[in-house]
Amino acid sequence: MKYIDEFQDPDLARRLLDEIHSTVTRPWALMEVCGGQTHSIIRHGIDQLLPDQVELIHGPGCPVCVTPLEVIDKALEIASRPEVIFCSFGDMLRVPGTGRDLFQVRGEGGDVRVVYSPLDALRVAQQNPARQVVFFGIGFETTAPPNAMTVYQARKLGIPNFSMLVSHVRVPPAIEAIMRSPQCRVQGFLAAGHVCSVMGIDEYPELAERHRVPIVVTGFEPLDVLEGVRRTVAQLERGEHTVDNAYARAVRPEGNPAAKAMLEDVFEVTDRSWRGIGVIPDSGWRLSAKYRDYDAEHRFSVEGIRTEEPAACRSGEVLQGLLKPHECEAFGTVCTPRTPLGATMVSSEGACAAYYLYRRLDTTPAAREATSVV
Ligand code: SF4
Repeated sequence: MKYIDEFQDPDLARRLLDEIHSTVTRPWALMEVCGGQTHSIIRHGIDQLLPDQVELIHGPGCPVCVTPLEVIDKALEIASRPEVIFCSFGDMLRVPGTGRDLFQVRGEGGDVRVVYSPLDALRVAQQNPARQVVFFGIGFETTAPPNAMTVYQARKLGIPNFSMLVSHVRVPPAIEAIMRSPQCRVQGFLAAGHVCSVMGIDEYPELAERHRVPIVVTGFEPLDVLEGVRRTVAQLERGEHTVDNAYARAVRPEGNPAAKAMLEDVFEVTDRSWRGIGVIPDSGWRLSAKYRDYDAEHRFSVEGIRTEEPAACRSGEVLQGLLKPHECEAFGTVCTPRTPLGATMVSSEGACAAYYLYRRLDTTPAAREATSVV
């Protein structure tokens, strides 16, 4: 297959579904790690087409959602300063901090700009040598390489007025934390294909063995997700727990060596707090000592910020797969994408936003049919 729409083919989807239905003999709970997979599942109604015994639990794979509140508050504090031009991808602007968001900072006179690449922010720094330009570098192993490359370039070109507020996170330690949780129900993982296209799959066999869970590297189109589910369920039914690559058109076992070398040069592994979850050991990256001059947290004194999560928001439970978004009392009433209480309702990859977009109005069989490609 060559084209994206071939990975949405209804006949092939039906064949995969038939195979899953004929394989399953008992209940299984699988977690899709990535928010992009969650949106594909909800948008196409895949969870509703699977056998009742197969439950899909939505994982903490939305980069915007897991960025900790204290980092959002640090971004708000830095962006409020008159000497600063604060650059970010657009989806971070509406993420609520303690009491306000970056849009409000802009409304109050802060110079907050939306960019489409970290290199755009570097260009802004070159064009405004009298201002401090800060880029908000968040996300998983997918966004980390271009951010690392940008800091590398800033140092190489000697651009002193550029810095980055870094809050990068790593998937394997999150899987470890999920499996160690006493509330964990997950029996198999659909690993995020794009993360593995960068990092490869070396980190997963040990996890699969230690926790006796199958981990299947999975893509994002409906057929990709169904194939990931099919292979995971087949392993579970056979009593196996290996790492399997169902996204071979994009993922090589070794990943992308150039991207990994750049990450190793610019970042170092650190403990990281995940919003709604807490600190996960070794689950993040920060700038290494060689690049510390480009770390916005060092350049601007932003320690001692007091944070406060909205009491009504249960996004921590959503991110851990303990609660489905529509089970939150605020869902679709006081909390909507226009008036979000939590980041999971803001981000284009957030589970609450997915349910609001595709599941909010009508859950009758007819409506399910209308939202499904199969
Ligand atoms: S629906 Fe809104 S309030 Fe409820 S968990 Fe999601 S983001 Fe938080």
